[in-house]
Amino acid sequence: MRDPVEADQIVPLAIGQRVDVEEISDRIGIEFPSPIPSIRAASTDGGTSFILLFGTEDGPYDHGIQPGEFTYIGLGTNGDQSTRIHGNSNLISAIDEPVPVFLFYKESAERDWQYRGQVSVLDYTTELRDGCERLVFRMEHQGSPAEERDEREKLPSNTTDAPTSSNEDLSLEDRYEKTIRNSTQAFYEGVKDAYNNCCAICGRQRMTPEGNPEVESAHIHPREDGGCHELQNGIALCRLHHWAFDNDWIGIREDYTIKVRDAPDIKGYDDFKHLEGQELYLPEDPELHPAKEFIRAKQRRQTLFDRE
Ligand SMILES: [Zn+2]
Repeated sequence: MRDPVEADQIVPLAIGQRVDVEEISDRIGIEFPSPIPSIRAASTDGGTSFILLFGTEDGPYDHGIQPGEFTYIGLGTNGDQSTRIHGNSNLISAIDEPVPVFLFYKESAERDWQYRGQVSVLDYTTELRDGCERLVFRMEHQGSPAEERDEREKLPSNTTDAPTSSNEDLSLEDRYEKTIRNSTQAFYEGVKDAYNNCCAICGRQRMTPEGNPEVESAHIHPREDGGCHELQNGIALCRLHHWAFDNDWIGIREDYTIKVRDAPDIKGYDDFKHLEGQELYLPEDPELHPAKEFIRAKQRRQTLFDRE
């Protein structure tokens, strides 16, 4: 059932295409109640089951949908979410069963839905959010997430400086996509610039022979948790320390010192222990220093800070 030809037959839309609910309904041949549920399980006339997901960025579920892997919140806004209700239970079965899952996405209520193609449901956890239990599904866009990431890094470096007049030749749709792309690119480039291509943890500045920086721009409050592209939510990290930051070896305190996990028995500790209590290498401009709210948001996701 993961055969792309069959997937095309169920959802005859091009990835990236924008459509309104009526058109989705016409193309796929199913009716939607209003408002549209975020998870809609259905089947074709031939009896093939499939699931449609509708993800937004501005509530009520606040999904953190991004290229590659992302999280998706289950159904139910009142009280705890149940694994037994239709929608959630269908999505859980899609973890083990070959039920195709198709994602539609929009950034805000005013936009049409954008078809994002097929996604895989990897697993789910139950998390306490705002006092209620939420089902947090881990998902991944099908195709190659690595390629999508590479594409992002490969964006031509002059687009941020492109004269706005060139936008006049573009359709409204293209202009919007370009704005999104620019804000993403502005973040990735802006953070590296702000830190002068140096890792905020170790201060190292490595370049390829061609002059490309090794450091990566990381989100402090992660994208999949709703973190934004503001420069104050960014930090430049070398590959090792990016990995260590993402995997809870190291964290950042609000006073911009480094916290290291106290785990002398685990291999790797010796590589990090000397960083404990050290100050971050920060941009000269205080306006570009990490904002405390983003540091706190990251800390809430790290078990490293559980006892503070
Ligand atoms: Zn480093």
